[in-house]
Amino acid sequence: MKTVKCPVCKKTVEWSSNSFRPFCSEQCKNHDLGKWANEEYRVPVEELDGGVEIKDEKEKKGEKD
Ligand SMILES: [Zn+2]
Repeated sequence: MKTVKCPVCKKTVEWSSNSFRPFCSEQCKNHDLGKWANEEYRVPVEELDGGVEIKDEKEKKGEKD
């Protein structure tokens, strides 16, 4: 049978009968989704960087006036 290592807890689990693959259990699957949720914090930061650039451009226009 084919087995796969759970990327969260490194436990070897059977692939074909595992509905949470590549994770060993729903717990490990949710753990990985939590990691993705934390990654999303980086997206608003990038949007803030764009906002700073727009604000900077407005200040440059103000100097021209
Ligand atoms: Zn696991």
